[in-house]
Amino acid sequence: MTQTAFLAACRDAIGAAHVLTDPHDTAPYITDWRRRYTGAACAVLCPATSAEVAALVTLAAEHRIALVPQGGNTGLAGGATPDASGAQAVISLRRLNRVRDIDPHNNTITVEAGVILAEVQKHAEAAGRLFPLSLAAEGSCTIGGNLSTNAGGTGVLRYGNTRELCLGLEVVTPQGELWDGLRGLRKDNTGYDLRDLFIGAEGTLGIITAAVLKLHPQPAARVTALAALASPHAALDFLALTQSIAGPLLTGFELMSDFCLRLVGRHFEQMRYPFAEPHAQIVLLELSDSESEAHARTLFEHLMETALERGLVEDAVVAENLAQSRAFWNLREHIPLAQAEEGLNIKHDIAVPISRIGHFIEATDAAIGEAAPGARMVTFGHLGDGNLHYNVQAPEGVDAKAFLNEYQSPINRIVYDSVHAHRGSISAEHGLGQLKIDEAAHYKQDVEVRMMRVLKQAFDPLNLMNPGKVLR
Ligand SMILES: Cc1cc2nc3c(=O)[nH]c(=O)nc-3n(C[C@H](O)[C@H](O)[C@H](O)COP(=O)(O)OP(=O)(O)OC[C@H]3O[C@@H](n4cnc5c(N)ncnc54)[C@H](O)[C@@H]3O)c2cc1C
Repeated sequence: MTQTAFLAACRDAIGAAHVLTDPHDTAPYITDWRRRYTGAACAVLCPATSAEVAALVTLAAEHRIALVPQGGNTGLAGGATPDASGAQAVISLRRLNRVRDIDPHNNTITVEAGVILAEVQKHAEAAGRLFPLSLAAEGSCTIGGNLSTNAGGTGVLRYGNTRELCLGLEVVTPQGELWDGLRGLRKDNTGYDLRDLFIGAEGTLGIITAAVLKLHPQPAARVTALAALASPHAALDFLALTQSIAGPLLTGFELMSDFCLRLVGRHFEQMRYPFAEPHAQIVLLELSDSESEAHARTLFEHLMETALERGLVEDAVVAENLAQSRAFWNLREHIPLAQAEEGLNIKHDIAVPISRIGHFIEATDAAIGEAAPGARMVTFGHLGDGNLHYNVQAPEGVDAKAFLNEYQSPINRIVYDSVHAHRGSISAEHGLGQLKIDEAAHYKQDVEVRMMRVLKQAFDPLNLMNPGKVLR
């Protein structure tokens, strides 16, 4: 049987201890982080080097076994979960966990795909540099997963998403060849940009085994503040003002509706509402200053005075110290947790042009209010990137499961139609995986889908690289 022969060959290639088949051992790899999908796998393969990855991919091609690459398994779109057939094998990259090189003069770090994001941050810091990718899953997600989903997070406004933080890749192609594209170049116009094809491909075009990542200077100081505003429109005007006063010092600009913070207060008693009076919208903003804390605070004072004078901001509080700054970020990071405590909800990770955010929220809130009276909107996100987590909670006292059964599909349609009408994206950060594969096909232009299919067919004619993800 080809599966038996495949597994025997895998054991020869990487050692029996690293070919997991016992259901107890494979269980953590076949369910996604949200527990939305559970698949089955003929094995979980755990190579330790790029050469071992190449050997396994070659065997998979020979035996026609589909591979599902997996890093930290924190993805939110089911991209790293195998299907239910039991015919696919998960290939976990976590043992590829070496830092190969740090080059402070080139401002680069070269790491293998399985290195945990928080480890990259630590290594950069030890070298006096900053690796600015930061997200709540940073203690578990891997660089390979970050690249494959083109992850965003809180620093995108200033430093860009993972694509913009990557200079070079090493990749195993679906045929098992190893491409060494680990060049730390900022300029390289020598034809098609292959690197960019693999970034955000969710493991459907090949397996990333290592990457050269960009480092930045460590800021001398970070200062955080909360500002209270009357509407998302006011938040946009405040963003424009902040950018004109703080320029590149602005590294975070997060929007949270009043209801988000009330939910946090309801489920986490120690996290109090940060203002004496209620306000419709709260912005968390952060400046990272290369000069000094005093310089950042002076700038903040000027910014807040100007914003208050112009009537953009209703109230503001600047963190006095690191602990208070941490407490502000905690409020933001506890919104998804509070939502989970409140019960099942309908999640959307969407992007629209920044200038359209206010109109999008108004129009979509109104349409949902009409279709599902009493639905509670949990709207927060990276306003500076035009990226909202636009989530819908059942009306107070209504059974969440029954609400989802009745309203999930119509609400998804309302939200995604509105995103489309505003020329936005139905997946800003989390990718398509298996979760949004049909929605993407629905909203993308036919010509876009055709070009994607041509690429997939050219790279992976046997359709063995994470089939059933991104494209059907
Ligand atoms: C609490 C929490 C907060 C989060 N916050 C954010 C956020 O702010 N911004 C954001 O963008 N995401 C966020 N995420 C989503 C998730 O952390 C990111 O998508 C992350 O980049 C996934 O990395 P991973 O190593 O866990 O990848 P996995 O989940 O293992 O895989 C994700 C996808 O990449 C593919 N893949 C993994 N490794 C490789 C490889 N080496 N080569 C080829 N393909 C590969 C998989 O097949 C899959 O399709 C969050 C998740 C959680 C749980």
